[in-house]
Amino acid sequence: MIDCVILGGGPAGLTASIYLSRYNIQNKVIAKGFGMVSETPDVENYPGFKSISGLELIQKFTDQAQHFGAEVLYEEVEKISKLEKSFKVKTNMAEHEAKTIVLAMGTHKRELNVSGEKEFKGKGVSYCATCDGAFFKEKSVGVVGGGNSALTVALTLSSFKNKVHLLVRSDFTGDKILIDRVNKDENIIIHKDVVVSEVYGEEMMQGVVLQHRKKDETEKLELDGLFVEVGLIPNTNFVKDFVELNDMGLIVVNEALRTSVPGVFAAGDVTTGSNNMWQIITAAAEGAIAANSVNEYLSRL
Ligand SMILES: Cc1cc2nc3c(=O)[nH]c(=O)nc-3n(C[C@H](O)[C@H](O)[C@H](O)COP(=O)(O)OP(=O)(O)OC[C@H]3O[C@@H](n4cnc5c(N)ncnc54)[C@H](O)[C@@H]3O)c2cc1C
Repeated sequence: MIDCVILGGGPAGLTASIYLSRYNIQNKVIAKGFGMVSETPDVENYPGFKSISGLELIQKFTDQAQHFGAEVLYEEVEKISKLEKSFKVKTNMAEHEAKTIVLAMGTHKRELNVSGEKEFKGKGVSYCATCDGAFFKEKSVGVVGGGNSALTVALTLSSFKNKVHLLVRSDFTGDKILIDRVNKDENIIIHKDVVVSEVYGEEMMQGVVLQHRKKDETEKLELDGLFVEVGLIPNTNFVKDFVELNDMGLIVVNEALRTSVPGVFAAGDVTTGSNNMWQIITAAAEGAIAANSVNEYLSRL
């Protein structure tokens, strides 16, 4: 049995690991992938880097965690259970036992839930511009959403010389610097007050039906691809009977990032912490605070 198992290899989990190792607390990071950061082509607001790709940044986090002694395992966690004085983490490959747990599983993209979306997933409909954007070079694509993710994705797709239709439910909610860039970008056509009500096509998607919210009209828009950026859902399904979640599915934490279960801590986008500011820097900060709380907890055992 080791001191701490960290679930998640994003900024929150890896920062928790770096801090734990420096407290000399033996820890293991279990992750099924690199998380949300790896989908970000260009990070410009993480101090120390004027501009860095998300994948490169998370590789640096991982290198640093391993440098200080963490074991990073790429497995998918299926279940956590409480034993008498420890916790058991069951993954698709093995079982791990630890005195404490840090939950840092992040979020995944929300779907639109409209007709044709599932049918054309991978046939035009995508949730990852970094992964799929290059397939649509010089094509006509839609991006659904008005927040930072949607704005970033629209700019990324525009850099492939695409004609990008930005489909916004009401108005933009992202950072002014990104809104200004989108407004100035000649490849981006902005449609406000519209909702995608259907994705249509034959073998591949061919377009969407747009519902105009203020005019009670619908319109067909021909598109080769559609990128959905309408929000995030916490990856907490497998812990819903284990720790307290709020009505959005976020893990309820206090300021020390303790959860409802003693010995279990949580950090990053998956928690109710940091005023729901879902960013790399806040996830990393929560990772550090959670590690500090693990240290306090273990020293009292
Ligand atoms: C398009 C886009 C652009 C963004 N741009 C920026 C930006 O410029 N600046 C910024 O600060 N933030 C940006 N963000 C947000 C940022 O990526 C997140 O806030 C940050 O990654 C959260 O870190 P995290 O560690 O909490 O979660 P994540 O980075 O999502 O990491 C979660 C980890 O948990 C793992 N995991 C999940 N479920 C399981 C399971 N069952 N078993 C094992 N492992 C599991 C995942 O594989 C991953 O390793 C952007 C996000 C997107 C989508």
